[in-house]
Amino acid sequence: MRRAAFIYEDALSRHELRSDHPMRPVRLRYTYELLQEYGAFDHPEAVLLDPRSATEEELAWLHTSEYIAAVKALGSGPGVDSGAVDAARFGFSGQGDNPVYPNMFEAAALSTGGSLLAAEMVASGEVRAAFNISGGLHHAAAGHASGFCVFNDPALAVHYFLNRGMRVAYVDIDAHHGDGVQEAFYSDDRVLTISVHESGQYLFPGTGSVDEMGEGAGRGYSVNLPLYPYTGDDDYVEAFSQVVPPLVRAFAPDVLVTQLGIDSYHSDPLTHLQVTTEGYIEAVRQLAGLGLPWLALGGGGYDVTAVARAWTLAFGVMLDIDWPDQLPSAFAKEHGAGRLRDELSPEVPAHIKVDVRRYIEDSVGAIRQQIFPLHGLTG
Ligand SMILES: [Zn+2]
Repeated sequence: MRRAAFIYEDALSRHELRSDHPMRPVRLRYTYELLQEYGAFDHPEAVLLDPRSATEEELAWLHTSEYIAAVKALGSGPGVDSGAVDAARFGFSGQGDNPVYPNMFEAAALSTGGSLLAAEMVASGEVRAAFNISGGLHHAAAGHASGFCVFNDPALAVHYFLNRGMRVAYVDIDAHHGDGVQEAFYSDDRVLTISVHESGQYLFPGTGSVDEMGEGAGRGYSVNLPLYPYTGDDDYVEAFSQVVPPLVRAFAPDVLVTQLGIDSYHSDPLTHLQVTTEGYIEAVRQLAGLGLPWLALGGGGYDVTAVARAWTLAFGVMLDIDWPDQLPSAFAKEHGAGRLRDELSPEVPAHIKVDVRRYIEDSVGAIRQQIFPLHGLTG
């Protein structure tokens, strides 16, 4: 068994959602190039694989046939105003979060298939971890696009494991609440979803409070750790370590699925968390430390150079390698960045730090009180 698979081909990064859209698939190429320059794919424990397209049958594990047909028709037509399909009904619009772009179905099916291929590699035991950086599109719903996401590959990958009789822990560290994945398994006790995110009081999609804890048989199996804006590394890591490892260990899943969005990054243009590469990678290390078969997916991240550095570090954790901190010269030259890891954390004013701490105490306290006992943990 090799340590880690990486799923990538250039076709994943060639499209554009819209010329001014913050989700830039080219960040995937930057990540691949940085890993390539570090020699990651020459490592004997690494394997680099092309994605495959998800089939319509696989997409239908979550998505409605009506929606799948609409994505196809819109992506092969003249755009949102084609008239044949009511784009707005399926979450698409010209200037909003989810524009229609040429070959949208093919692009979305390819990144989704990359996550399913990665899931297959993990389930078969060929690798301990598999990383599809083009996946992690956690906002998509069964019948409509949302938050830059067309198909919900994390939920589909979870379905793949469930189809094989496996129980799944899904941990989502994107700065936005993993609402689509939570919704897909809200009443299912075979899937533990945990989302660590900037509070929905301040950020899209507005959901993800501690009170959303699952229903019916799934009560206690949806966990949300909302954080105050400007939460930085120390507080982030402390909150994460108090909630995520104990709950995943108590659940004792067969497989771990993680959404590793890096829009928690301090200079990310869309969010307000203040995490650096160091806080981020400590969370990733703790996920690795759970010692489970591991499907890792990408996610948000709109400072594209930071995305490349953070996901390079994450793949290093999967391979158990510490890349040299000096960035390879080609990447450093193209992006004007010198070091792989951040050396300094941004300063957060003391009065905001007080609010950050109070918010964490409330969030963690509520999780320990309401959810821990349902998993046999003492609050
Ligand atoms: Zn996000």
